[in-house]
Amino acid sequence: MKRKDFIKTSSLLVAGGMLAPYACSPEKKQQSIRKNWAGNYTYQAENLHQPTSVEEVQDLIRKLDKQKALGSKHCFNNIADSPMNQISTRLLDKIVNLDEENKTLTIEGGLRYGDFSTQLDEKGYALHNLASLPHITVVGACSTATHGSGVNLGNLATPVVALELVTPDGEIMNIDRNHPDFYGAVVGLGAVGIVTKITLEIEDTYQVRQDLFQELPLESLENHFDAIMSSGYSVSLFTNWLDKKVSQVWIKRRTDQEFEEMGDQFYGATAATKNLHPIVEISPENCTEQMGAPGPWYNRLPHFKMGFMPSGGEELQSEYFVPRENAVDAILALEKKRDLINSQLLITEIRTIAADNFWMSPCYQQDSVAIHFTWKQNWEEVSKLLPMIESELAPYNVKPHWGKLFSVDPARLHERYEKFPDFLTMVKKYDTEGKFRNDYLDLNIYS
Ligand SMILES: Cc1cc2nc3c(=O)[nH]c(=O)nc-3n(C[C@H](O)[C@H](O)[C@H](O)COP(=O)(O)OP(=O)(O)OC[C@H]3O[C@@H](n4cnc5c(N)ncnc54)[C@H](O)[C@@H]3O)c2cc1C
Repeated sequence: MKRKDFIKTSSLLVAGGMLAPYACSPEKKQQSIRKNWAGNYTYQAENLHQPTSVEEVQDLIRKLDKQKALGSKHCFNNIADSPMNQISTRLLDKIVNLDEENKTLTIEGGLRYGDFSTQLDEKGYALHNLASLPHITVVGACSTATHGSGVNLGNLATPVVALELVTPDGEIMNIDRNHPDFYGAVVGLGAVGIVTKITLEIEDTYQVRQDLFQELPLESLENHFDAIMSSGYSVSLFTNWLDKKVSQVWIKRRTDQEFEEMGDQFYGATAATKNLHPIVEISPENCTEQMGAPGPWYNRLPHFKMGFMPSGGEELQSEYFVPRENAVDAILALEKKRDLINSQLLITEIRTIAADNFWMSPCYQQDSVAIHFTWKQNWEEVSKLLPMIESELAPYNVKPHWGKLFSVDPARLHERYEKFPDFLTMVKKYDTEGKFRNDYLDLNIYS
């Protein structure tokens, strides 16, 4: 496929699921309640704008007072909301440039991973890693330091080499890794401007096989955590915390890398004999292919397939990062609370993420482990559990995922981010009038 065709097809593929323009009278607002993906949060912004070009983004930013960028709505909290205007990036959906010489890909700010991965693969290229699902926008993911797993793999912002963003004064700013604010702006929580283009490092395409093991004894995890998490290119553990067992180990191995042979046994766990969903009672139909069948990176690194409902659907999510060296202690501390946790849990996932340099990344200069909770959609009860979990993990300077549900006191949060003062200074420098401020940023950043 020629580059021109590649670019043309890619923009057509995202046509499904467009948002209808939304300008409101209070009455209309009532009829058109807009929610996030999980349906647990109703956006308060009265107006939803859908620019189709950078110029339209500039006009909107100049014209509007309070506003915030909206990606694919997969955050579980109010981070993407605004008291007045949301600027959806849905129609900024083109692949801009595949630079084969420098091995970079530039896309517009509304493209989701699943919108371009197949074409990128067909051209012979790949990304280093993906999250559990391909349904999220690249910019929305990078803005909250979204991650996959892999002891040597940084979060999804780590391949970013440049951004084009429209700043609160409506001007275009291009920044790359040499710009002093680059490492603040990429994981920017949508506080700095609206990203209209993003450039990512790419690499030669590769294949991955996915092998699952069941019922890993907790004792094995305690004694061999590093070896288990290093047994593949990307490894995820799923547990319901009960029975002193990790219910599933998902090992994703690149076929072009050497790994130790695996038999039917893995540190006391047994090889799965069929495809599985992380929640074992749910059909694995929506999950990427397992049972060691090699396939392209974009069809193995996420757990869920594009075009299907990811995860469980009706759910809430929280996730906490602690330094990798404290992983076992942190897991054992939570295991003591297993009955309380399990009462509201659908499933926990444990992953590793390599250190990076983004100021607001929970993995800033710290190899980390992320302990994730997919909860039942019962906020009244879940909200009681979060402070307990946060207090158990406080000795490890726990940091929550910016896009999920948490209750850590903002002052504690600020202390745990070495570069927080630089981030706040940067945000105030660009957003002098507080155009991008919303309740979330007021509480967690500006307070
Ligand atoms: C089923 C499910 C599975 C998930 N799996 C994972 C996982 O594996 N790993 C993980 O780390 N997280 C995961 N998440 C969380 C999710 O990836 C993040 O919350 C991510 O930020 C969502 O991206 P989005 O495009 O939906 O962004 P939104 O929720 O729409 O917005 C997120 C933030 O990005 C900002 N933003 C969006 N676009 C722009 C732009 N163009 N310019 C400036 N700012 C912008 C918004 O203002 C907001 O601050 C999962 C969520 C769900 C629902």
